Amino acid sequence: MSDACLKYAREEHFCPHCQTRLTCCSTPPFHVGDGLGWGTDVFFVCLNNDCPLYVNGWRLVEEQYGQTASFRYMLLPGEVKGGPMMVGSQDAFTGCAVDPEAMLAKDSRYQREKAALTGLATCVAEANLEPVLYLITDEDAELEGRRRACALLAELGDIRCIDPIRNHSFRHTEIGQLAEMAIAALLKKTFQRECPYCAEIIKAQAKVCKHCGK
Ligand SMILES: [Zn+2]
Ligand SMILES: [Zn+2]
Repeated sequence: MSDACLKYAREEHFCPHCQTRLTCCSTPPFHVGDGLGWGTDVFFVCLNNDCPLYVNGWRLVEEQYGQTASFRYMLLPGEVKGGPMMVGSQDAFTGCAVDPEAMLAKDSRYQREKAALTGLATCVAEANLEPVLYLITDEDAELEGRRRACALLAELGDIRCIDPIRNHSFRHTEIGQLAEMAIAALLKKTFQRECPYCAEIIKAQAKVCKHCGK
């Protein structure tokens, strides 16, 4: 969703037939009318089932076209005046409503992902675990970026990554496995290992765990 969509989703428009606020909907992936497509990502529609245009539309369409359909008032972005759009059922377009708050949340997640991806380039030089950890634990991030982040874990050699990764439940098992392998590699690289009894990090050659004494 673009910034323009977000702007439109926050606009307020009202139905001239019933004065109900129009719902901002994303355009369905089929073409209308002249076959040129919608030419827009969103449009506004009156989804009020008591709207006179909609209520009377059923009879009007039946009389004029002999079909079971009605009209909803619809307005295209940037236009002042809308018009009737034929709908075949009460549910038409009800599933396309755009939720600006959900869009914003999705957008801020995307912004963080983008920043983290940029951060990968310098994270090793800056000893910055943050972007790597973010990508590995963001299940909505692109897989390619998450794979790259896993590959950088061992290089970073920062054992603070272990707990957050272990506490995360991975939806993509591949990323979980890559992260687990990276943890094993980073422990080996720093001559450390996990105590099999208490899971604390200890020196690889330790005979007795300094944490639990086993
Ligand atoms: Zn209306
Ligand atoms: Zn121990």
